[in-house]
Amino acid sequence: MILFRSSYLRRNSCGKGLLFNRSFLYTTYEVELLSYGRICFSYHLITQKSLSMRKIYLPIAAIFLLMSSCQKSEKQVIEEPEFSTKNRTCASDEVLRLQMAADPTLRQRMQDIETFTAKAIAKRQTMRNAAGELVIPIVVHVLYSTSAENISDDQVQSQVDVLNEDFNLLNKDISKVPGVFSSSEAIVGIRFRLAQIIRKKTSVVTWLGNDDMKYTAKGGSDVVDPGHMLNLWSCNLGDDLLGFAQYPGGKPATDGVVIGYFCFGRTGKLLKPFTKGRTATHEVGHWMNLRHIWGDKTCGTDLVDDTPQATTYNFGCPSFPHYNQCRSKEIEMTMNYMDYTDDGCMFMFTKGQSDRMNAIFSNGGPRSNFL
Ligand SMILES: [Zn+2]
Repeated sequence: MILFRSSYLRRNSCGKGLLFNRSFLYTTYEVELLSYGRICFSYHLITQKSLSMRKIYLPIAAIFLLMSSCQKSEKQVIEEPEFSTKNRTCASDEVLRLQMAADPTLRQRMQDIETFTAKAIAKRQTMRNAAGELVIPIVVHVLYSTSAENISDDQVQSQVDVLNEDFNLLNKDISKVPGVFSSSEAIVGIRFRLAQIIRKKTSVVTWLGNDDMKYTAKGGSDVVDPGHMLNLWSCNLGDDLLGFAQYPGGKPATDGVVIGYFCFGRTGKLLKPFTKGRTATHEVGHWMNLRHIWGDKTCGTDLVDDTPQATTYNFGCPSFPHYNQCRSKEIEMTMNYMDYTDDGCMFMFTKGQSDRMNAIFSNGGPRSNFL
């Protein structure tokens, strides 16, 4: 018996059979229903491994309803069901591990960037003023196999708007930052401009946590001018992932950020609670060399001085104050964009994070071409 939680259903191509795929975080069940006459559908059910009995009934009921409707009429239209809630997951570090395995020189390049970053911050090369304004052109690759995945121009623009707000302290929810952290709030001072949208229909139904979507030869779309443009790919990202980014130091051919079309921007049909475009804010933070707030280890370090230590990632919307279980016993900055909290519960970068991001654009830095 299969139990479903936190699932979404999506119409797919005609076919028969039953297929199970297992991923590192989640289990993906691709169920293809048998055909009835000329009509047949298949559905993808992506489920978390931690199952909750409370939430299984509706998806199961939906399956039986859809199966029975499949038998009734060739003309029956099956509506796209509503997306349901799940937790944030980001594959940046998993993808980095794959890239390091394929390229033994990447680790050293990233170490060199760390050395450069520390020096640039020490020499105060990270200050940004009006004369040194940095505007990053963005190219968005919209990969789609269904019309729902072919997100609108407005949805794409809304994502650029979110980035401009979040990186410049113009986000309305900045007022929610607790007093204990308010002196750390940062105007990163980097702006974004939508330069191009590339739309591409693809036969690839679901993309995984790897770089395939960045290659035309694999059904994706080749990177555009990565030395001068931030490339964003919007696609149907599977494995229950919301997005991932490439850190500075990686290959130009795969440079950029991948975001699920269901959490891209803040307009259109979006997956709750990821409706405020913060997946891109988080991922662009990685693209600018930020680490997760917990340092991807228990009580690890994110290489930033003014972010408190965190035991591990936080899902959902933690109540304040949330203390870490590390030796330092500090209040965790769960509202930082680099945690795993919901879109509505993350609303700040710190000055230390801003320094790290600006360092990579300073003279001699790995993204200094953008100046
Ligand atoms: Zn991340």
